Amino acid sequence: MKIGKRTVLALLGGTMMVAAGNLAAQEAAPGKVEAVKPRAGANPAPARKQGEGAGPFNKMVIRGVTLIDGSGAPPRGPVDIVVEKNVIADILPAGTPGLPLKQGREPRDFDYEIDATGMYVTPGFVDMHVHGSTSDKAPDLSYSYKLWLAHGVTTVRGVDLAPFEISLSERARSARNEIAAPRIFAYQRPGQGKGWTGGRVNTPEKARAWVQWAAKQGIDGIKILDSEDQPPEVMAAIMDEAKKTKLGTVAHLSQIGVGRMNAVQAGEAGLGTVTHFYGHFESMLKNGQVQNWRHDYNYADEQDRFGDVANLGDESVEPGSPEWWDYLEKQKANKVTFDPTMTIYAAGRDLMRARNADWHDKYTMPQLWGFYQSSRENHGSYFYDWTLATEVKWRKFYDKFMRLLNDYKNIGGRVTTGSDSGFIFEPYGFGYIQELEMLQEAGFNPSQVLMAATLNGALTLYEPKGQPVPPIGTVRVGKLADLVILKENPLQNFKTLYGTGALRLNESTQKLERVGGVSYTVKDGIVYDAKKLLADVAEMVASEKRRMGMPETGLPHP
Ligand SMILES: [Zn+2]
Repeated sequence: MKIGKRTVLALLGGTMMVAAGNLAAQEAAPGKVEAVKPRAGANPAPARKQGEGAGPFNKMVIRGVTLIDGSGAPPRGPVDIVVEKNVIADILPAGTPGLPLKQGREPRDFDYEIDATGMYVTPGFVDMHVHGSTSDKAPDLSYSYKLWLAHGVTTVRGVDLAPFEISLSERARSARNEIAAPRIFAYQRPGQGKGWTGGRVNTPEKARAWVQWAAKQGIDGIKILDSEDQPPEVMAAIMDEAKKTKLGTVAHLSQIGVGRMNAVQAGEAGLGTVTHFYGHFESMLKNGQVQNWRHDYNYADEQDRFGDVANLGDESVEPGSPEWWDYLEKQKANKVTFDPTMTIYAAGRDLMRARNADWHDKYTMPQLWGFYQSSRENHGSYFYDWTLATEVKWRKFYDKFMRLLNDYKNIGGRVTTGSDSGFIFEPYGFGYIQELEMLQEAGFNPSQVLMAATLNGALTLYEPKGQPVPPIGTVRVGKLADLVILKENPLQNFKTLYGTGALRLNESTQKLERVGGVSYTVKDGIVYDAKKLLADVAEMVASEKRRMGMPETGLPHP
């Protein structure tokens, strides 16, 4: 495939000061683009400022809410939720539906009270696939942290969040609540870590040695990418050693290795989570294990890589066929979690929608916006000539993928919610809510979506640690106080969870209004005003635009 001039970058050059410096350097060396750039480093978040979050309190009471507890139980209320420090201490009836609430309700010895009468409470959400905002996308990690918290995400599985040492130090700072951030689970990649002296992890022996070393450093799990260094025997060693050292595993079964280890084989070897769609359909190809690559396919060309994935739709067996069910039953028997991250490839179905989403102007960092624009160097910015035919292929592929997820859920398989935001026009937080939308589109009822977003993630994070009863994921007495407090009922419309809200016509004024958005996110007993977090993010974005000499509102649209 030919590599022409980067016309989109050229288009951006006139209007976008941020790209100007880079552009000059890139234009000076035409044709030097051979592969996507390695991921940039990440800057730690600044310490939590005075007034950034309130608490934890000796006793906090959240009054008068309808509780959707994350376990699959129906909504119930009104209740008062009592939080002592960072633990849910009690859930008390506050009255009877249809009657006025009882006044002066116990307990009275609280030191903080939230009157949330008529509001809804869910467990904090778990984003099972994240990368923190790297230095080429935002000044520091707080950009991603605040967008996650503002969308109710109180726990993230970084796969990886940041380089090894930064992931661990940010996890510790978050655990001490020194930063405004969700709980962090640090899943790292084989070979990472400055203290690792064993070199490339490309043999089973080295794999075991690295896993043991990394477990001692305190990581939570391993992100496996079946690169050239990790053929099946190395992956199997990683998974086996991970189990012995109580680490979780999640694999992106990329095209490089999936011809030898697909998702069912990885499940048999002990894999915990399959993330994205990779590996599922390669386990069910009609014509054997290897996809029918076009003769001129080039994996290093990301439009080939991401465009042709959708061919798996036609190359794999029919939904509902014996092979289809056989695949799902095997994955269920091996207790494999599916973490589909549908949202991150959603632009492939409808690029214009993704580019023009409501949130970009105010909340998308100008650097991140620049990163998203079609470029042969930026990972995931692969829309070089994305045609209607490709979009149609993707829509059909997603129909099949959704059917797979729904069928897996229906036989009792576990599905979680991950976003992989920060690429492909999906900003942090907003992208996560879109994943909830897409699970509902797949056939999950809203309560099942909420379970996937809360309890299922919690179970998947804590089971490898030998903790089958997770301390988060449901709103129950004794659990950690990770809560989302909302004006709108999320089960009625998950779109109301977006920081930009959902549009609704006010019948009394006949004016359109934005309703919803999270009101408060409680993480570890600390109450964050979600609207304030969004305002912080908007100011961070505006300040970066000022620094770059760009208008504060809007973004350049080539
Ligand atoms: Zn990822």
